[in-house]
Amino acid sequence: MQHESPPRAWVEVDLEAIAHNLDIARQALPDTQLMPVVKAGAYGHGLEPVARRLDNDGVAFFGVANAGEARRLSQAGIRTKPFILGPTFPEEREEIVLNNWCATISTVEEAQHLQQLAALYDKTLLVHLAIDTGMGREGVLPEDLGNMIPLLKTMPNLVVDGVMSHFPCADEDVPYTQEEIARFEACVQTLQHHFRLRYRHIAASAGELGYEIPAANLARPGLLLYGVAPMASIYDGVLRPTLKLSSRVSLVRTLPAGYGVSYGRTYMTTRPTRVATIGIGYADGWSRHLSGKGAQVYINGHYCPMLGRVTMDQIMADVTEVPFISPGDEVELIGPHIPVTQVAALADTIVWEIFTGLGPRLPRLYH
Ligand SMILES: *Cc1c(COP(=O)(O)O)cnc(C)c1O
Repeated sequence: MQHESPPRAWVEVDLEAIAHNLDIARQALPDTQLMPVVKAGAYGHGLEPVARRLDNDGVAFFGVANAGEARRLSQAGIRTKPFILGPTFPEEREEIVLNNWCATISTVEEAQHLQQLAALYDKTLLVHLAIDTGMGREGVLPEDLGNMIPLLKTMPNLVVDGVMSHFPCADEDVPYTQEEIARFEACVQTLQHHFRLRYRHIAASAGELGYEIPAANLARPGLLLYGVAPMASIYDGVLRPTLKLSSRVSLVRTLPAGYGVSYGRTYMTTRPTRVATIGIGYADGWSRHLSGKGAQVYINGHYCPMLGRVTMDQIMADVTEVPFISPGDEVELIGPHIPVTQVAALADTIVWEIFTGLGPRLPRLYH
């Protein structure tokens, strides 16, 4: 039997840190139920292992992106009900009805289709009405509620069990977010005359940390679970990092002064330079936008500047200052010495994109 070669790059996930961060959310909101958001493979941390760790932890739902993720949860034996956060496609709805997953409704068409399927299979489907309080992505506009409510009441197989919305700028615009909270409250008040709304939710991580939302009794933390507070907050020092991204040195060589490194030769050595080649690239999610931005990697106790462009499977770093280094040595790319927030800033993007960009080629190791 051939030995499988050790991975060139991998992700280590600390499931206990994720559970700890969920506890922090719980302590911050003692009277609010929680829907941990595990969409996009639990933000790159691995859908099933994260859901398994948080299952039975007193959570109301798991937030997922689509029916495929909901199916993976149910195939993994997860008992917490999946909640499909965005609008559903018609092809997904039969499976949703048959499995009694929770879906949202923004339009009459979606409601009618779900009603039709639920009637066909003699099911009662619990749905959440989405309200667009300002995100412009899904939901009924508040002024259209008057038309929507009587229609929903004619659908015997649908039960409006909850109401939801989503903030577009909870971490950027406090006054606007406060207006939205008021709009949401007004919608909840109207809807409560017609439906028994067991769940009322609008906040993701930023909304959850930053605002009082008396009308809500459920929150949907995502990023927060993965150790990053989306806005400077008292939780900054309390959340635990959940993930480490590592690779290994494949080669160490000395290049002469005036030598170009990587595609485009955008970096030229200014002196004889020890250059390490490292087994990770943009195909793994180490963004090409990190090229030429002063990004560093951490090897054997030293910060080493990355040189030139990120290539598909490999990067190069200046290891002239690292006294002992040889092929096989570990390289930290995200972890205790290199926070993911810094990587996101250098790549000119957000932490969410760095996490979810971590590719399928990276094995996930769990502690
Ligand atoms: C992704 C998502 C969340 C989680 O957002 P975070 O900012 O990561 O906490 C919550 N609600 C909805 C509707 C989402 O799409």
